[in-house]
Amino acid sequence: MAAVVNPVVGSLVWVEDPDVTWIDGEVVEVKGEEIKVLCTSGKTVVVKVSNVYPKDAEAPPCGVDDMTKLAYLHEPGVLQNLRSRYDMNEIYTYTGNILIAVNPFIKLPHLYDNHMMAQYKGADFGELSPHPFAIADAAYRLMINEGISQSVLVSGESGAGKTETTKLLMRYLAYMGGRAAAEGRTVEQQVLESNPVLEAFGNAKTVRNNNSSRFGKFVEIQFDQRGRISGAAIRTYLLERSRVCQVSDPERNYHCFYMLCAAPPEDIQRYKLGNARTFHYLNQSNSYELDGVDDSKEYIATRRAMDIVGISSDEQEAIFRVVAAILHLGNIEFAKGKDIDSSQPKDEKSWFHLRTAAELFMCDAKALEDSLCKRVIVTRDETITKWLDPDSAVTSRDALAKTVYSRLFDWLVDKINSSIGQDPESKCLIGVLDIYGFESFKTNSFEQFCINLTNEKLQQHFNQHVFKMEQEEYTKEEIDWSYIDFIDNQDILDLIEKRPGGIIALLDEACMFPRSTHETFAQKLYQTFKNHKRFSKPKLSRTDFTICHYAGDVTYQTEFFLDKNKDYVVAEHQALLNGSKCSFASSLFPPLSEESSKTSKFSSIGSRFKQQLQALLETLSATEPHYIRCVKPNNLLKPAIFESKNVLQQLRCGGVMEAIRISCAGYPTRKQFYEFVDRFSLLAPEVLNESSDEVTACKRLLEKVGLEGYQIGKTKVFLRAGQMAELDAQRSEV
Ligand code: ATP
Ligand code: MG
Repeated sequence: MAAVVNPVVGSLVWVEDPDVTWIDGEVVEVKGEEIKVLCTSGKTVVVKVSNVYPKDAEAPPCGVDDMTKLAYLHEPGVLQNLRSRYDMNEIYTYTGNILIAVNPFIKLPHLYDNHMMAQYKGADFGELSPHPFAIADAAYRLMINEGISQSVLVSGESGAGKTETTKLLMRYLAYMGGRAAAEGRTVEQQVLESNPVLEAFGNAKTVRNNNSSRFGKFVEIQFDQRGRISGAAIRTYLLERSRVCQVSDPERNYHCFYMLCAAPPEDIQRYKLGNARTFHYLNQSNSYELDGVDDSKEYIATRRAMDIVGISSDEQEAIFRVVAAILHLGNIEFAKGKDIDSSQPKDEKSWFHLRTAAELFMCDAKALEDSLCKRVIVTRDETITKWLDPDSAVTSRDALAKTVYSRLFDWLVDKINSSIGQDPESKCLIGVLDIYGFESFKTNSFEQFCINLTNEKLQQHFNQHVFKMEQEEYTKEEIDWSYIDFIDNQDILDLIEKRPGGIIALLDEACMFPRSTHETFAQKLYQTFKNHKRFSKPKLSRTDFTICHYAGDVTYQTEFFLDKNKDYVVAEHQALLNGSKCSFASSLFPPLSEESSKTSKFSSIGSRFKQQLQALLETLSATEPHYIRCVKPNNLLKPAIFESKNVLQQLRCGGVMEAIRISCAGYPTRKQFYEFVDRFSLLAPEVLNESSDEVTACKRLLEKVGLEGYQIGKTKVFLRAGQMAELDAQRSEV
């Protein structure tokens, strides 16, 4: 990105500004290496020539719909373009094939209605305004025409609009691949209705987003030979379990809890529920209502969506019964029992909730009490029963609640999958990925570690696709091209994932030794990665570690890493619910197979997640990817506020700045010679007779139409951004 080479008085430039990142102004004086600039804010600054960028005086005030069309490509230009479009409610902008979506935080219904879908259907990519429908349409048509599976990867930070965008993509695909006016529950309806069901149980209000997805999701939509949706599979990743028992103000627990507390009176009575404010799992935070959301209506809507995805009313009854049981479970408090270090429900209220929870779980109340307050230790010679003290009983209670809830969530996903059904014949699919973006908070724990690993992997995939593919193609075609460097993050992935010796492997090791603590784990990390470029130990800490991620440094607190990585269910909880008279509840805890109970192989959340990611990336690499980068313009979640600094950081994290650079520097359009001649010979038909082969024909054609700056490769012609559109325009005039 070149700075102004020779600024003269009167040149329009961008200067760096600590508050708004970049500000525009006019050069009023040039003194050697320094210039004086009068900024549009009224401020005058003196800056080094090397620190200013030229401003395009002729840039259209309403911006351009594709960044690659910008005359000057640099950060201030890109930001200015996004901002001026955003001001006019043009929230979508391309960067070559990448769609940037800036969250409007206001409903724009006309933008997504059926009329809009009809317009995008079959329109050439780039012909209409940038839109998720255009991306979905391009993916659909590529799949139909080329027979290649496609994927759309939607990324961005929390609240940026990933889930909303994903739903738009799914709606468009259902529109294209649906059976018009079909009767009953169609596959595409089921696919669409899976969203409200999963959102009810997997989304919650957080400080960043009132409807934040607390899990990652990959939806694979399968199509038959005629391009109709014939099946679908949903895969989910890492539901946030801790939220079930721990919520901090002003966040909320999962939506389903509040919906259930707002259910019709007969349901409330059946489940012995009451005001949400009476439940410990909800009243740790003072946030109950959501702006613009009526939980009682949501309850009905969720039930209806459950009907459509094929969850029977008996199953629904059992699901909500278990959700209610979790609320009652949370209200059981413990006091010291008769024996030393023992515990028992604290008072009559606690006994009531214990009995109610047992009733709803359909298990024995005494057995529930025991599973919360006692542990049975089996040694070679004897069986010892050990009491838990009140604090440990609380931990036990919360562990049970978390396990039940996360199994309930997995059950829902499995159920939706089996009821939609998979099409074994399908050869083509379109996958849509809606997964958490890069996170860096004041304190970062194991969850952030896993989330950021996901983002490193996806970033590598993005790098490989956009950068490596591009470079490899140019090299293969032996065309001129000055290489653009990009940051490869393989070293970070090795640091985290390598077996043996990576952070996850060391964590698993630590979890297997009973005497390990987070201190010994941290020591081991410091020792092992002493000289690693991407790893460091913060000066003032004895147990934190910092990873230098592609999107910036993140310091992780190791305190709960070991606990959170251990994936085991307390044997007493397993036995309790396996024995439930409710077939739904007991199906959440199937009997352990001989083998798994005998080998008692250590299973870790980190390793399992790593494998899931591996599988996801394998699926993705068999598809042609499309990228949508969602951007959150402000942290107030309000319309019409565009914070440049914030946006710029997100563009950098998403690799958008790098992609823009490469896309423009290169030749984004490429066509085989024969394809090119086929398409454009209309512009100069005589070249066909004059040339003996397609390469010559192609070259002559290009000369005749007067293009410049293109490249002739070995098998293809390479055009610069926008040239294809120019030729198409000429062609349509013939
Ligand atoms: P998380 O990672 O927390 O799940 P997300 O990226 O999925 O966040 P969304 O839930 O999709 O974010 O969007 C957050 C909110 O922003 C939505 O609830 C909605 O209010 C608003 N929003 C997002 N996209 C749009 C849009 N295209 N039009 C109108 N509002 C939108
Ligand atoms: Mg989301």
